[in-house]
Amino acid sequence: MKRFSVLLTMMTLTSWPVAVHAEPMMTAAADTAFREGQRSLDAALRRTPNTGKAKNIILFIGDGMGINSVTAGRILAGQTRGLDGASYSLSFDAFPYTALSKTYAADALVTDSANGISAITTGFKTINGAIGVNGKVRPKDCATGLANRVSNIAEQAKRKGLSTGVVTTSALTDATPAGFYGHIASRDWQADTDMPAEVTKAGCTDLARQLVEAPDNVRLDVALGGGAAKFLPKAVGSAGARGDNRDLTKLWRTQTPAAKFVTTAKGLNAVETKNTNSLLGIFAPSHLPSVIDHDKFPDTPSLAEMTSKAIEVLSKNPKGYVLLVESASIDKWHHRNNAYRALTDVDELSKAVAVAVDKSDPAETLIIVTADHSHALAMSGYAAREADILGLARQKGVNQLDKTGKPRTILSYASGPGEQDHEHELTQAEAVGPDFLQPALVPLSSAAHGGEDVPVYAYGPQAHLISGTVESSYIYHVMAYALSLSED
Ligand SMILES: [Zn+2]
Repeated sequence: MKRFSVLLTMMTLTSWPVAVHAEPMMTAAADTAFREGQRSLDAALRRTPNTGKAKNIILFIGDGMGINSVTAGRILAGQTRGLDGASYSLSFDAFPYTALSKTYAADALVTDSANGISAITTGFKTINGAIGVNGKVRPKDCATGLANRVSNIAEQAKRKGLSTGVVTTSALTDATPAGFYGHIASRDWQADTDMPAEVTKAGCTDLARQLVEAPDNVRLDVALGGGAAKFLPKAVGSAGARGDNRDLTKLWRTQTPAAKFVTTAKGLNAVETKNTNSLLGIFAPSHLPSVIDHDKFPDTPSLAEMTSKAIEVLSKNPKGYVLLVESASIDKWHHRNNAYRALTDVDELSKAVAVAVDKSDPAETLIIVTADHSHALAMSGYAAREADILGLARQKGVNQLDKTGKPRTILSYASGPGEQDHEHELTQAEAVGPDFLQPALVPLSSAAHGGEDVPVYAYGPQAHLISGTVESSYIYHVMAYALSLSED
């Protein structure tokens, strides 16, 4: 944490300015927000961009982490630590450069994760559901998928001799991690048994095979996440979903020298990185559980632990590395309207970012934190500053009521399974319960993504280019420029 602490110190501890108006200044000096504003100005005045080449890039994706998720996640993170949530800072809140990213798809106002990540990793917006192909692809059409492949930043970096990796709390074959290795017309084609016969006949291969069987010059060096079923044959029992009898974990172990395969947090922590050049870790049959459920799944590594191990393996390469780290659980739990788990995983992302800042040199590592899309979480009303963000909107113990006379929550969703029961008098105890679903306006079995711009935070070489309101595809161009990928 040392380096990160230095960053925070540089950004916050500054000399106090000379008072212009003696009387008001006395009041102002005692005001925390006034002082904080002054410190931020001082930091901004002393900021000089690092215009050097980036040796490494770590790209963090908070899946579905719109601005409201950051704000509410920050408040929950502070309150969980017994602090004032509103003024608390997540690790990436301290990053000096930010932008807003327009996330729409080639064919839709609101994007899914497949197009969302493809735009960021390839520079091409595509249609919802497609990965690593340009916008000419047709939905679930193998042939146009094959004809319109576009390379991603990880493949380009690997060809230049850098190491590459993916860390996620979803299945490794889910859309976001696939943005670093996959080229496919449908994100659903994760194992052979997910593909219609005509698609296989037309020459398309599933995402698990694409990850493991990629040629040496583009294959990922590290892949940590969930989704074991997509890599194992049905012959192993319920843990396997493949119908082609392939054990892709075996292929991973045998095709690269010094390759390792682990399935538990203990196994991951025991990996000796100096003897490991290629690391596959799959810790669940499908997605990894939310961190608050890790007591029931003690063999699950945290996002920070996976990030740490990935950096240790990848950073052995003197030419550098590119790493994608995704907190997928934010999106998974927003889909269910369970704000507690979704926002707890914003904090998990923050912790993983802090680890990355600590384990990398800010002079040579560009760290970007963003989202592939938003979720339509709302934070509204005028609850007291100390009110539990997960609970009822209340001031001094008095609930604020809706027009039917019932208490209301601070957080709500535009859509999803969370029901608004106007007959029921919701209590604070119910609302702050871990399994509570925040109310949703439009009833859907799974909440729909939000379409507004998402924040981008950056730190390190060329981070100053993250500025203004930009297309999601711009992030690819910044990364490629920072690595000087176009130079021979
Ligand atoms: Zn989603």
